[in-house]
Amino acid sequence: MDKTTQTQPIRPSTVDGERQSSSHERKVARVAQMLRTRKSTAPLSRQKRVVSHQVPKVNDKKYTDEKVDLMDFDEVIEVDVERRICIAEPGTPFCKVVDHTLPLGLVPIVVPELKTITIGGAVAGCSIESMSFKHGGFHDTCLEYEIITATGDVLTCTPDNEHSLIFQMMHGSFGTVGILSRLVFRLVPAKKYVHLRHETHRSIDSYLESIWYHYENRDVEFMDGIIHSNTHLALCVGDFVDSAPYTNRYDWLKVYYQSTAERREDYLETPHYFYRYDQGVTNVHPKSFLGRLLLGKLLGSSEILRLAEKLRWFLLDDDRPDVTVDTFLPFSKLKEFLLWYEKDFNHFPLWCVPYRRVHDYEWLTEDFWKGMKDELMVDIAVYGMKQRGDTNYYRLMETKLAELNGVKTLISYNYYPEDEFWGIFNRPNFEAVKAITDPNNIFRTLYEKTCKASMGQG
Ligand SMILES: Cc1cc2nc3c(=O)[nH]c(=O)nc-3n(C[C@H](O)[C@H](O)[C@H](O)COP(=O)(O)OP(=O)(O)OC[C@H]3O[C@@H](n4cnc5c(N)ncnc54)[C@H](O)[C@@H]3O)c2cc1C
Repeated sequence: MDKTTQTQPIRPSTVDGERQSSSHERKVARVAQMLRTRKSTAPLSRQKRVVSHQVPKVNDKKYTDEKVDLMDFDEVIEVDVERRICIAEPGTPFCKVVDHTLPLGLVPIVVPELKTITIGGAVAGCSIESMSFKHGGFHDTCLEYEIITATGDVLTCTPDNEHSLIFQMMHGSFGTVGILSRLVFRLVPAKKYVHLRHETHRSIDSYLESIWYHYENRDVEFMDGIIHSNTHLALCVGDFVDSAPYTNRYDWLKVYYQSTAERREDYLETPHYFYRYDQGVTNVHPKSFLGRLLLGKLLGSSEILRLAEKLRWFLLDDDRPDVTVDTFLPFSKLKEFLLWYEKDFNHFPLWCVPYRRVHDYEWLTEDFWKGMKDELMVDIAVYGMKQRGDTNYYRLMETKLAELNGVKTLISYNYYPEDEFWGIFNRPNFEAVKAITDPNNIFRTLYEKTCKASMGQG
């Protein structure tokens, strides 16, 4: 029986939108029917059209799991200029969303920096970007999710209906609490260009002071940074503008993160600003100028990740993987973290994204939040560090983050012992939601999926 809930979903407001909506409903019915009639209880992974922006792992079980086909869930259903909302399917990449909204003078509030990150992956995998210092992550800009449960029910979930916990737990769920099949999210006015100023700071204290100043005064629209070292920290602040004296783009020969050390200001067309890191944030491919000259136009993040997945047996090493890790730290602990990081890791540059704590996420434990006094957090991302000696740098990071009341997203290699893991991630809330959305655990628990199956175990 289809237990569609009482809450009425947000509907499109145009005939075109209604037409797209009917086509969407047929896709949902197909997937729900498949799940309702599926006999097997073997784990199930999603199949979507664009590449995954998880760090590819050689033995990830997602490559051999049975699949649920979500390939055609990649349409924008409607952009409603009046209500400033977008209704879209989860496999829609941000570049396609922006193609629909920007000609109407609007963009999503959070546009992650790689072109083909999808809106569904951004919710389930905690995507952020340079407006996050005001708005939090992409999830925090969403109004409604439609979710297909593992047993084929279709739920409308909002922050304040009877499924509010499911709505909140979809964030950071890495696909373990059901299938996100439709999203409604807010849009903001945008202009044609972005004007950037790159501040250079020679001490951590001065960097922190400036981040705090912009955070408190809200005097810029965008803020992120590249930490080239602890004595060379670039803070990149920017605003939408209607005109530009010149423009730069960083999708072929020029490398954006390098420009933050060389330039004081810059102008980019808005889409080029959003995807300025698409050839790699700080781990750019191809690395050499000649390589970029020959192949740069052909190799964006999507192509690089696709190649890494296809050639994973030759290119990657699950025993000593390079370190790519995304961390969230309380702002007040950033200095201590950077001093420790320089001593123990010393791999620069780092990407730095201030992130407002707009909500105490239900997927983290009460103990985690009890220790958190800061209203501002900072995402520090490490890309492509070679591990040295016998140290497991992933584990070293996990241990240090626990000490500093930080957390990492689960996009790469995770080595948490299970009891430690559930001291950070909120098991009772996951179990409460799973009982409704995945009672037979076909999408695996968060621990099983991110700490075991992704590395070929369990
Ligand atoms: C090299 C690299 C660079 C990155 N750079 C950035 C960056 O610049 N900015 C940024 O914000 N983030 C960045 N990230 C992190 C990225 O935002 C997250 O990994 C995000 O989850 C990727 O989304 P995706 O669309 O690729 O989804 P996927 O990787 O395909 O999926 C992410 C998770 O969400 C689940 N999922 C996907 N679709 C659904 C659905 N419909 N229903 C339920 N669950 C679903 C999947 O099962 C998976 O566990 C980077 C990651 C990597 C590996």
